[in-house]
Amino acid sequence: SNTRDLILSSCASVPDFPKPGVTFRDLTPVFADPTAFAAVTSALIEPFRGGFDRVAGIEARGFILAAAAAYASGTGMTAVRKPGKLPREVLSESYVLEYGTAAVEIHRDEFPPGTRVLLLDDVLATGGTLAAAVRLLERAGAEVVGAGVVLELAGLGGRAAVPASVHALATI
Ligand code: IMP
Repeated sequence: SNTRDLILSSCASVPDFPKPGVTFRDLTPVFADPTAFAAVTSALIEPFRGGFDRVAGIEARGFILAAAAAYASGTGMTAVRKPGKLPREVLSESYVLEYGTAAVEIHRDEFPPGTRVLLLDDVLATGGTLAAAVRLLERAGAEVVGAGVVLELAGLGGRAAVPASVHALATI
């Protein structure tokens, strides 16, 4: 599709970042281009339109997408944060990385019961981050109606690791 082609043509591939052997897919040019940013925002919402009350974005690039999608859909936004950032009582969900662990957090009282949430992030790799975010939102009482990403790195099994319906706008 047109949106898929826009993403793949504007996405930059950076070899050996953040460490040797890793190719980092940089979507900042997609956010900077008005046509691409609008198309991506609409396409992330479209499969779930009318079926969610809140958009959640994962720190930090997921914030950019979730804020735009919440505004465009007339809903509100939840920031899924890295540990230690939120001032009130939190729920925390840990996940395993190649070396060590990481965690994501939200405020314990973030969602009224039954809140239907669309979860967004920029890139799906192993799926560990998105899976932990889904578990976190569900523990907080939300119903995760879907997870949207701009770019899915195929071949890492990420989609299968996420306990939600995953919608990717482009795959490489
Ligand atoms: P995962 O947990 O392995 O699926 O990694 C996904 C998380 O790491 C997301 O929050 C992404 O923003 C980030 N990430 C992993 N690989 C890339 C990449 O190539 N480009 C941009 N972000 C990435």
